[in-house]
Amino acid sequence: MAEKHSKTQETAEERTQGQEAVSSNFIYNIIDKDLAQDRYGGRVYTRFPPEPNGYLHIGHAKSICLNFGTALKYGGKCNLRFDDTNPVKEDTEYVESIKEDVRWLGFQWDKLLFASDYFDTMYECAVKLIKKGKAYVCDLSAEEMKAYRGTLKEPGVESPYRNRSVEENLDLFERMKNGEFQDGEKVLRAKIDMSSPNINMRDPALYRISHSTHHNTADKWCIYPMYDFAHPIEDAIEGITHSICTLEFEDHRPLYDWVLKETEWENPPQQIEFARLNLTDTLMSKRYLKALVDEGKVMGWDDPRMPTIAGLRRRGYTPEAIRDFCERIGVAKANSVVDMGLLEHCVREDLKEKSPSKMVVMDPLKVTIRNYPQDQCEWMEVENGKDPSLGSRQVPFTKHLYVEREDFMEEPVKGYFRLFPGNEVRFKGAYFIRCEEVIKDEKGQVTELVCTYDPQTKSGTSFTGRKVKGTIHWVDAEHAADITIYAYGTLMKNDENGNPILNPDSLQIYHAKAEPSVLEMKPQERCQFFRQGYYMLDEVLSTQEEKVFTRIVDLKSSWKKS
Ligand code: ATP
Ligand code: MG
Repeated sequence: MAEKHSKTQETAEERTQGQEAVSSNFIYNIIDKDLAQDRYGGRVYTRFPPEPNGYLHIGHAKSICLNFGTALKYGGKCNLRFDDTNPVKEDTEYVESIKEDVRWLGFQWDKLLFASDYFDTMYECAVKLIKKGKAYVCDLSAEEMKAYRGTLKEPGVESPYRNRSVEENLDLFERMKNGEFQDGEKVLRAKIDMSSPNINMRDPALYRISHSTHHNTADKWCIYPMYDFAHPIEDAIEGITHSICTLEFEDHRPLYDWVLKETEWENPPQQIEFARLNLTDTLMSKRYLKALVDEGKVMGWDDPRMPTIAGLRRRGYTPEAIRDFCERIGVAKANSVVDMGLLEHCVREDLKEKSPSKMVVMDPLKVTIRNYPQDQCEWMEVENGKDPSLGSRQVPFTKHLYVEREDFMEEPVKGYFRLFPGNEVRFKGAYFIRCEEVIKDEKGQVTELVCTYDPQTKSGTSFTGRKVKGTIHWVDAEHAADITIYAYGTLMKNDENGNPILNPDSLQIYHAKAEPSVLEMKPQERCQFFRQGYYMLDEVLSTQEEKVFTRIVDLKSSWKKS
């Protein structure tokens, strides 16, 4: 199998090199061939089949982009199908969130469907198999079945119930359906080959008994189809042509094909596997994410640290950035782990051009401009960004200001061009300011800088007298808005043994001073806090008194284009 993987198509790296590479992948090659051979009469029909047992994550986004994107590329169609064949408590909350996430990512399904609506057809298919002598009712317990199944090295052993007559099987299966047996007492199994080298083909279970209430069919059924039996039938009913799934189903493909052949579908769909997305510093299993939510380890499914689409949305990620990410990682046949830095790179790239800039001081240090008139306030016209179409805004400037504590060094290191005694810098959008005097408290901690300004150097005037090397941001003390900032780290980190653990330092809270226009930011509006990163209002955490902003991503890129 390793050999088979190595032969397949392009790698993720190859696909990140330039937009051109995006136009092709091994799935497109398969479709192109099918179209050339007129295998499905020119149709391309895909589906995205989530189980509604949790919120979608970024791994699902890859599958969504692939399934909907493939349909779009070929002028085909893609269904949103809820794969709800498990009678576990599936929640309509999950169904609704999945619909919202798919739409938010920018896709529209052809049909919205529930696999549980096909239970009658699936039952008929099972009866058909029994009549053909291709399925039988087996009384072995789960443990016995496991023991009989054999191993990779040893063939399995045939069940003593394998040669029941068609009549007996039909009768028992009907009685299974009618609720005459307990959970686990009997299963319906395919009659294939107990010595097959592929363990999935050793008489797999097709139907099991489960006396539980289903969210859609209530108590109509007490037998439920297994995934490997249900999925191909769901695809066939919908006329799917290319059933795209993740790599762990590759060994199940012979069974997928067997089910379709033996239940006699014309022009059956084909299963194509691709590598699932894994990302560093996070975990993408709905079960694990649900546990974090249930145990209160995070604020909910949409916690901005979660790799869920709802979490990324609340964090401030854009659908464009996520789609771009899914394009860049590409579609391959070999599993790999993608660096979280690439996802951050994508949102940075998307926000770079379109986000206006604002000035916010995270760790304020007082500045007094000695020669600036006491009661004067100038409203400076400050550009929102390099692109003139972003416009400008008015920012107040007075005698008392705040700057970032890290923008001052009493004894500057080599190459430090910000504030230090005697040095002059540009205050963004205002004046050249020179640091004249440093005020400290009794502990020796710097509490204030006394500076002077040069009125000739006002921004927007054509002052050419001299140059300064540093430009720093500032906020006027009188008009400053107090805001709270939630800066998130990764959800997971590795412990000293390299095992993933929940990152205990995944949230840092700052109380920052912001230019007043920050309070006018609308929900979903993103902006750059000059020199810091990209931010968005968190509507869930914000109150009338306290505005909370989420750091979407910082400005520095840990990810380098190789
Ligand atoms: P999880 O283990 O997180 O619950 P799942 O595969 O059980 O994931 P489903 O709801 O069954 O979740 O998945 C719906 C579709 O999304 C499937 O086709 C599945 O293959 C795909 N998918 C799930 N996780 C990933 C991933 N990490 N990368 C790519 N596709 C994924
Ligand atoms: Mg699943």
